[in-house]
Amino acid sequence: MSTWSRSSPLCPCASGPRRPAPAPTRRLSCGNCYSVCPDNAITKLGPGRGFAIDLDYCKGCGLCAAECPSGAIEMVPEE
Ligand code: SF4
Repeated sequence: MSTWSRSSPLCPCASGPRRPAPAPTRRLSCGNCYSVCPDNAITKLGPGRGFAIDLDYCKGCGLCAAECPSGAIEMVPEE
């Protein structure tokens, strides 16, 4: 069992505001990111068109990046 702490690298508070940066060439279009986003910030674009992330609704939790099996989403510092 893992223990969560404020200094954990998984805590978005510890490293400052971050946002997801998808790499379109690596995506699998499996929909994991869409399924796990707690803020409904990810939208299905339709068959073969993948997904879009609306950063106005994203809180930077990093769940989409953590659950992506192809590593297509990287969390980067917010500018
Ligand atoms: S970082 Fe969190 S809130 Fe933002 S798109 Fe990913 S799962 Fe949704």
